[in-house]
Amino acid sequence: MRILVVEDETAIASFITQGLAEAGYAVDLATDGSEALYWVSIAEYDAIILDIMLPDTDGLAVCTAFRERGIATPVLMVTARDAIDDRVAGLDSGADDYLVKPFAFAELLARLRALLRREPVFRGTVLQVGDLTLDTVTHTVRRGDQPIILTTKEYSLLEFLMRHPNQTLTRTAIAEHVWNYDFDNVSNLIDVHIFGLRRKLDDAYPIKLLHTVRGVGYRLGNEA
Ligand code: CA
Repeated sequence: MRILVVEDETAIASFITQGLAEAGYAVDLATDGSEALYWVSIAEYDAIILDIMLPDTDGLAVCTAFRERGIATPVLMVTARDAIDDRVAGLDSGADDYLVKPFAFAELLARLRALLRREPVFRGTVLQVGDLTLDTVTHTVRRGDQPIILTTKEYSLLEFLMRHPNQTLTRTAIAEHVWNYDFDNVSNLIDVHIFGLRRKLDDAYPIKLLHTVRGVGYRLGNEA
């Protein structure tokens, strides 16, 4: 298992990295937020231990940046601060657990093991399938760098599809999650909106993301 440690205080950093190495983990050390973002852009980590007080930014902003980039790696946030507000802010920024300094190394290891048992799941605000991204805060959709302008209904439909990547979704499931009860003939509406979505998402690109599963429904994904 490979762990990224983000900590600027030399003594604490070497305490954590040496302890983790002795426990059999592969460890990289970042000493500030921008270095942490660099590391996660070039390597795949199984967990990240993130100090909240960093010289260039704070751990909350770094954690938010991870999640915005679609990085679902479990984050254990570490801080000397012990205010309830900080714990809440840490968890709101997408951290998975929280550890207050000073801590016993055995507790850090136990919390890390607990995180590593979890499946990585989406906890951020940006959904991604292939080169398609959907920001659930700003409601912007892009394919690569290219913005895609959708109607409100197309956006809702796409968000539902992107939350279930590579799964075939029946028209019934789509109708239940994307339309409310007072629409008749929703099946027809779905087909119309799928047609519009496909034109905007896929027409200009060689790799198609929106697939029709004949007689069943639709699937969004980069698996043909
Ligand atoms: Ca620090």
